[in-house]
Amino acid sequence: MMSYKMEYLVVHCSDSNWGTRKDINNWHLARGWKGIGYNAVICNGYKTSKSQYDKKLDGLFEEGRSLDFNDYVDSDEKAAHVLNYNHKAIGICLIGRKLFTLKQYTVLYNFCKVFKAINPKIKIVGHYEMSTANGKTCPNFDVSKFRELIEEDMYIATLQGTMGIKLPVQLHGETV
Ligand SMILES: [Zn+2]
Repeated sequence: MMSYKMEYLVVHCSDSNWGTRKDINNWHLARGWKGIGYNAVICNGYKTSKSQYDKKLDGLFEEGRSLDFNDYVDSDEKAAHVLNYNHKAIGICLIGRKLFTLKQYTVLYNFCKVFKAINPKIKIVGHYEMSTANGKTCPNFDVSKFRELIEEDMYIATLQGTMGIKLPVQLHGETV
């Protein structure tokens, strides 16, 4: 099995206000891919466009293409989310367009912390920060600010103020 040292943890958003791993898998299959292009998904509490907010679904972590928790990207883990870097990056996708929940940020924070522990040199980046982003703004929040919180070991409680997080009820009906 071909493996590369993991260098990047790339954060994405689904650019949808709702959905789960299953939906993203279907969207990516429809593009002719071999299935979900991310290694993990963090749900926002809205299962479909018509669903009411479900707190059990808010912050739910779902494994995507494949993910083992070591510092190599194995061939079965290689996803499809960041042009030219997929072989040395893992991708995590937050469901949402521009606004994300405190639970989502908290789960993302912990996920990043785990990978920092596994590989202290890993670069946590937003898709838009990669050289091949080609004008994409994904995941539509300031990942450099988020990275600082992780590096400074800030408490999760400070996330809400720093990231300007809205309450889940405010997410629904969000316009782009
Ligand atoms: Zn992206």
